[in-house]
Amino acid sequence: MKTYQTMSKDELTSLKTDLEAKYKEFQGMGLKLDMSRGKPSAKQLDISMGMMDVLNSEVSLQCEEGIDCRNYGILDGIKEARELLGAISEVPADNIIIYGNSSLNIMYDTISRSMTHGVMGSTPWCKLDTIKFLCPVPGYDRHFAITEHFGIEMINVPMTNEGPDMDMVEQLVSSDDTIKGIWCVPKYSNPQGITYSEETVKRFARLKPAAKDFRIYWDNAYSVHHLYEDQQDFCLEILEECEKAGNPDIVYKFTSTSKISFPGSGVAAIATSKNNLADIRKQLTLQTIGHDKVNQLRHVRFFKDLDGIHEHMKKHADIMRPKFEAVIDILEKELSGLGIASWIKPRGGYFISFESMDGCAKDIVSKAKEAGVVMTGAGATYPYGKDPKNSNIRIAPSFPTLDELKQAAELFALCVKLVSVEKLLEQ
Ligand code: PMP
Repeated sequence: MKTYQTMSKDELTSLKTDLEAKYKEFQGMGLKLDMSRGKPSAKQLDISMGMMDVLNSEVSLQCEEGIDCRNYGILDGIKEARELLGAISEVPADNIIIYGNSSLNIMYDTISRSMTHGVMGSTPWCKLDTIKFLCPVPGYDRHFAITEHFGIEMINVPMTNEGPDMDMVEQLVSSDDTIKGIWCVPKYSNPQGITYSEETVKRFARLKPAAKDFRIYWDNAYSVHHLYEDQQDFCLEILEECEKAGNPDIVYKFTSTSKISFPGSGVAAIATSKNNLADIRKQLTLQTIGHDKVNQLRHVRFFKDLDGIHEHMKKHADIMRPKFEAVIDILEKELSGLGIASWIKPRGGYFISFESMDGCAKDIVSKAKEAGVVMTGAGATYPYGKDPKNSNIRIAPSFPTLDELKQAAELFALCVKLVSVEKLLEQ
């Protein structure tokens, strides 16, 4: 097979004519598909419907400690929920505070508190001239949106297939005390599906930050979200590594059941050292009398324990796996060997990360949109929405049905070819 780069102008021009005709056919189909956000499909939500039955007017709403979950109390969350979320996060229940329905909300809150009140007695960030965060790229747009909202300067750190470039992280963090944090999605990362290697996690744990209020924001959103039973990624537990490295307070670990039960109606938690938890509680005790214990109870009664979670996640995987495979198959069939694209086949998580030729991503996404397929905006995977190479596109296969997804992926591959040909003809 010939790569596009080795084709003559004439060959490219005639290819362009063919591709345009195919594109017109797609436009005539009136597609209306959404591959933009990592939302579970309705079928996936259905598998958690049993959760609606575990609580009703007949059952006791007392938690294990004998407290009535219908009433105020228990700031940290009920013990059995701390145990369940602790198990998901691989940390002891004593290192967990359960919050409300969203881990992103905890991340926002954590940064907001650091801005107004500082971290464990340090100067509030709002009193400092410059605050910076390291942002492994490509990454999660909502992380970057939070830091941008607070006026925090963001520095791109390239991802490798073992996690962020740790030489760069170590160098920056140890030399610049205005760097106060780093966003990490350590397992099945958003969008690349990369899991940080053991060495990467150990290097994180051993960081020697110039700023004593530097924290690693370890967003464990996809810890149990495997696609394959026999090929699961493993990520070293960071809290324990930090403690071993004499750095117990350096990390905040976030998790939620958003993509386990119901996004937006799940349970979220922070796991961190006892010192950090004490610091957090000073604010939390003023912020709320307690989070939603009824929902915590509902989750525990439904899932019971970590085995229950794993069994449940297999059902998600059974729905997700064919979708991921369909997209990957179409990308391979349509685009491999053409020299115009690359992608990562993930073993878990919610996304496929796609790299076009430099300078093409925005045009590909807008071409797909014009034919009825909405993708995540090109650039969204970078701070400030600026992908310096304009090449990364995040594909979210979960929401459409399998048939819709196949159509969407075919159209996407066609748009990639068409935009690449146009680009090469311009050169
Ligand atoms: N972190 C990451 C990496 C995510 O991909 C998502 C969901 N797309 C979230 C956090 C949001 O989690 P939550 O619903 O708990 O706020």
